[in-house]
Amino acid sequence: MAKVLVSRCLLGHKVRYDGGASGPYAVLAQWQAEGRVVALCPEVAGGLPTPRPPAEIPGGQGARVLTGQAQVIARDGEDVTAPFMAGAQQALALVRQHGIRVAVLKANSPSCGNEQAYDGTFSGTRVAGEGVTAALLRQEGVRVFNENQLDEAWLAILGED
Ligand code: SF4
Repeated sequence: MAKVLVSRCLLGHKVRYDGGASGPYAVLAQWQAEGRVVALCPEVAGGLPTPRPPAEIPGGQGARVLTGQAQVIARDGEDVTAPFMAGAQQALALVRQHGIRVAVLKANSPSCGNEQAYDGTFSGTRVAGEGVTAALLRQEGVRVFNENQLDEAWLAILGED
């Protein structure tokens, strides 16, 4: 049975920067009951507290953070690149440990976003891009979906079963 890496906030865990959750979703709860879900909040796993200041990647490209070409900056100005990188590495370790080929990660997050990210101006402006963890998993060959793509994610999981 194929396992899937899922953002903890989508499971109803209050790990978001603002102390809230982004779920739960019934489908994800069903997958969890089946034993498919490996849950992770990369930012908390990387050592950041909850709540924490929101953070963005100038330019919104998580892949540039991975290569040292961009940083992750919190709204208070702190460089939080190191914990974001640490969380991404923990996600990579988990997918390798469990043979995971599919992930469902929270849209638009500087860690988890798979198609869009905020642009670093803290103005609510999104650009085509991805978070640091999403970028690292994509480079590993993991198919990364978000909470608005659960049907596509399920088809991908079935293809791995
Ligand atoms: Fe954690 Fe990712 Fe959810 Fe942010 S989007 S709270 S990093 S699991």
